[in-house]
Amino acid sequence: MSDLLSQRPTRIKVDLDAITHNLRAIRTHAGVPVMAIVKANAYGHGLVPVGLHLQACGVEQLGVAFVEEGIALREAGVTVPILVLGGIFGPQIAQFISHDLEITVSSLDKLRQVETAAQALGRKAVIHLKIDTGMERIGVHSYSCRPFIEAAMASRWCELKGIYSHLACADDPASPMTGQQLERFLGACAHIERAGAPMPLRHLANSGGVLHFPEAHLDMVRPGILMYGVLPDPASQATINVRAALSLVSQVVYFKVVKAGHPVSYGATWAPMADTRVVTIPIGYGDGYPRSLSSCGQVLIRGKQHPLVGRVCMDQFMVDIGGDSAWNEDEVILIGHQADATLTTEDLALAAGTIPYEILTGLNERIPREYRGG
Ligand SMILES: *Cc1c(COP(=O)(O)O)cnc(C)c1O
Repeated sequence: MSDLLSQRPTRIKVDLDAITHNLRAIRTHAGVPVMAIVKANAYGHGLVPVGLHLQACGVEQLGVAFVEEGIALREAGVTVPILVLGGIFGPQIAQFISHDLEITVSSLDKLRQVETAAQALGRKAVIHLKIDTGMERIGVHSYSCRPFIEAAMASRWCELKGIYSHLACADDPASPMTGQQLERFLGACAHIERAGAPMPLRHLANSGGVLHFPEAHLDMVRPGILMYGVLPDPASQATINVRAALSLVSQVVYFKVVKAGHPVSYGATWAPMADTRVVTIPIGYGDGYPRSLSSCGQVLIRGKQHPLVGRVCMDQFMVDIGGDSAWNEDEVILIGHQADATLTTEDLALAAGTIPYEILTGLNERIPREYRGG
């Protein structure tokens, strides 16, 4: 981080101890090993620092979406097993094998490609088979997966370490979809059992599955957002006591009085009914702070919630503090605690009309990250 960037008043503070706590809480609750998901810059928390921290905490496995993310972790000294969850492209396979990254094999054709690449390198590829049980994203359909599974069991150049699927509706405890998906997944695993082969690791549960579907925990769980102390759905019930690890903090950069009827920001979409005090905060949609929070977001200043007014700009937005006072450099909390007040990622997601995942992963590299604990 350059010195100037590290002086930016806007920053993300990551509490690594909260991540430690969440990992333990999830492990205790699920009673099986954890594959912590650190894709998308560890849900905005910072891929390498979080990956190294989880390794220090003794996490059994990490999961990322893309091969580049896995390579970045390896280059930073992460040595725990890493599964790349995304679909693979033929030319990337050698990179997986040479960086010791586990491969998601999602079709018979891709299995053949992995075998060819592994044979050419003279080194076995470690693979997890992806079964599609209802997501219709990647994977071989559970109803026609037998030849695929048999080919994987017979493969000389692939070590079959895992078999998995992904839940489409696990954030809704009432959805019948999860039970159906579990049943289809266990049906696929039965092909291995019947062949008398050793059962690879069966994993199915994302955060929603961890929270709401104990029967889906199987041999390993794959929590992402829950590791960071955020619930997959703002309405979900917290069956595990997790702590939010991320705060988003800034400072007042400007103070003024806006006269009644004088509009604020682009498009002149909002104007006060009476003279009011307005402060400017130096963060905007160019940092990943959602523009959809225009005139409907909230921030904390001096322990009190105040509304965003007018449109969020690329690098700044305005807040109406009414009759309250605020000074330049006063701390502004966008996500986190101040005095007795709290604003959560879930609150922002509700106000912005999106999900907490999009809020967290949207926070980009322009915002410096600061770590404590660990
Ligand atoms: C992203 C992802 C997860 C983690 O999902 P959360 O809802 O964040 O827990 C687990 N498995 C797969 C295959 C994923 O793509």
